[in-house]
Amino acid sequence: MARDYNFSPGPSAVPDAVMAQARDEFMEYRGEGASIMEISHRGGVFLEILDRAESLLRELLGVGDDYAVLFLSGGATGCAASLPLNLAGDREVVADYIVTGLWSRRAADEGTKYCDARVVADTKEQGYSVLPGDIDLSGDAAFVHYADNETVHGVEFDAPPSAGAPLAADMSSNILSRSFDLSAYGAIYAGAQKNLGIAGISLVVARKALLRPRPETPMIWNYAKQAADRSLVNTIPTFPVYIMSLVLEWVREQGGVEEMARRAERKSGMIYGCMESGFYRAHAAPECRSRMNVPFFLADDRLTASFLEGARERGLRGLAGHKALGGCRASLYNAMPEAGAQALADYMRDFEKRRG
Ligand SMILES: *Cc1c(COP(=O)(O)O)cnc(C)c1O
Repeated sequence: MARDYNFSPGPSAVPDAVMAQARDEFMEYRGEGASIMEISHRGGVFLEILDRAESLLRELLGVGDDYAVLFLSGGATGCAASLPLNLAGDREVVADYIVTGLWSRRAADEGTKYCDARVVADTKEQGYSVLPGDIDLSGDAAFVHYADNETVHGVEFDAPPSAGAPLAADMSSNILSRSFDLSAYGAIYAGAQKNLGIAGISLVVARKALLRPRPETPMIWNYAKQAADRSLVNTIPTFPVYIMSLVLEWVREQGGVEEMARRAERKSGMIYGCMESGFYRAHAAPECRSRMNVPFFLADDRLTASFLEGARERGLRGLAGHKALGGCRASLYNAMPEAGAQALADYMRDFEKRRG
């Protein structure tokens, strides 16, 4: 068996140790006589996994009792819709949206359906390669939404925008990659298939005091109801929760979020370091370059196909750019070992030497 270095943007690499443990427990979970995916989501065995996932998240992210930790279906896209349905008490409530790329654009479009969504900054004219200078805040917003890391455009906030209102952040692609002060946030959310595990579940952490679910909010997306029911309003995707619990244990064993942050700096530094000669060009401006997703172009686009083909031959997969941007993209989530980033950097330099 050969596992490539997997630079896929999502679903994406899962740590080898987690995959091996899941394999060992796949047919029969710890003496249960059945697989985790074959047993009740309300039974003691699964509830213990669910509790472990929640308590590990609370520990790793520093989440206090004033916040609910929810495991929901519908991905990060579902969260973008459920957010206004839970934090904006009715359709007239104002919510501000900062748009810095594809995902925050989509969240703003979704918000328009459910509240008085106002785009208070939009970097489209700069090709979503920078962070906004001026943010024209409404002043009376129930929340200010932004994407902490834009997975497609490779733009990451170094510090949260100052908002004067509770922040609501899409952290799908950089959660658990650095510590942050949760108290500035009304809610954060993330699909699991980047830094938390596999597709099928998403995480919402929401300040309980801000929850204003509307009558029409679907019950599976009613944060208050899900909080009261331990995210068990309906059948929770049990296997993705189990994988998440293993990933969280792995992060803790590796040294927690601070260690993930140090590794992310080193890994992304190796790739951005290849951009200096001009043969490769990063999409994002230097001051907001993502540590998780590195979209880049070859100065001579005619070489892109052969660059990607050569990468595949070396066991470096998932490097094609998003269709919205083209070019290449290296996603360097927590599960990407430093040796993988080094292998990519070596290949980039080697390709440049041969074809530059
Ligand atoms: C992947 C991603 C999404 C979409 O996630 P789904 O789970 O497919 O809905 C949204 N936002 C960001 C920042 C992402 O990286």
